[in-house]
Amino acid sequence: MLPIERGLEIVLSTAKSKERTDWMSAESVALLDSMHRILREDVFCDADSPPFDKAIRDGFAVRAQDVTQVPAVLTIIGESRAGAGADVVVGEGQSCEIMTGAPFPQGANAVVMIENTERVSSSSVRILKSARENEGLLRRGAEARKGDKILQAGRCIALADIGVLASTGKAKILVSRKPRVGVIATGDELVDVHETPQAGQIRNSNTYTVCAQVKEAGGEPVLLGMARDNLDDLREKIKRGLNEHDLLLVSGGVSMGKYDLVEKVFAEFGVEVLFDKIAMKPGKPTVFGHRGNTYVFGLPGNPLSTMVAFHMFVRPLILFLLKAADTAPKILEAKLDAPTKCDPERAALVPATVRFESGGYRIRTAPWKGSSDLVGLARANALIMIPRREGVLEAGDSAQFLPME
Ligand code: AMP
Ligand code: MG
Repeated sequence: MLPIERGLEIVLSTAKSKERTDWMSAESVALLDSMHRILREDVFCDADSPPFDKAIRDGFAVRAQDVTQVPAVLTIIGESRAGAGADVVVGEGQSCEIMTGAPFPQGANAVVMIENTERVSSSSVRILKSARENEGLLRRGAEARKGDKILQAGRCIALADIGVLASTGKAKILVSRKPRVGVIATGDELVDVHETPQAGQIRNSNTYTVCAQVKEAGGEPVLLGMARDNLDDLREKIKRGLNEHDLLLVSGGVSMGKYDLVEKVFAEFGVEVLFDKIAMKPGKPTVFGHRGNTYVFGLPGNPLSTMVAFHMFVRPLILFLLKAADTAPKILEAKLDAPTKCDPERAALVPATVRFESGGYRIRTAPWKGSSDLVGLARANALIMIPRREGVLEAGDSAQFLPME
């Protein structure tokens, strides 16, 4: 059976082999809509930052050499406020009142904080504490110079980037178009969220978790409904999914059961399947293939299996299509609280609770009843990755985990 890493390599190498420059086009969006999108242009500073020498404290702009002996009384020759500088040159024995963000006047070389001063009169101030040269101010261009590359294409736009983009005058940003991801749930037992299950039925939860994962990864989910476990219904829905989408995700119907017909329908439509088993628990019957410009996944139906298979294989593919610089699954490390048995056949992903304690993450498995137990999973906040090998991971050993919140 294929190890997880090999499966991921197959997914990404298939995507690379199909890569065309015109495939996942870039689109221009308003700054406010760019959060968490993948940037498709390098962004350069349109001016020095800050654009002028500026105060970063409220207080008095002085010449440091005039306040080496304190207290010292200085004449106030002007006021520089944010948005309106003072047209003065600070000379020996002089100072200029100044506010945070205000242009720094000529002649001065430091700001003494207001807290370290005492107003003597409207035109003089007593300085109570010395200041070093360049204290309390930021020189023009100290953060970045005009023309500097400040953001690189491929980056997932984060909070601080929004501020950087605004500061440099980018009202419109070039980002990757969102891949359209068709989502089909399969199963005769499924009813939708607003329905009341009858005997033997359950509500469809996978459509909702998969769509949430698609959105989080940067794709646009397209709900294609629930297909029943018969060839006609599967054919109709899968046909639609194959024709209009960059990815098609079908959950359920890929195990060994008599009514697991999804792979058969994939084959009828000419989907080239590159793997249909992964040495991973849960998520073993994960199917990956492609047809034309559509990538196709059969995700095992158990709720946790679907989530794990998405995280390991679908998310990296979506990020690749988006031309993200970093496509790797998010994996962190923690120390185990208690020993955990390994499986030589399959890597396992087990719900766990992780917490930050004395400088590092500590992790322990959470009580749960198997891959269908969404309630147990909701009480956990991580999945421990237990490697495929003999033996046990001991208490205190490092283990990798996927954060789930
Ligand atoms: P399957 O992969 O179709 O054999 O399904 C495995 C298990 O997952 C069964 O217990 C199904 O009832 C359950 N299951 C399949 N699809 C869904 C779904 N969309 N929502 C919730 N549970 C599901
Ligand atoms: Mg089924």
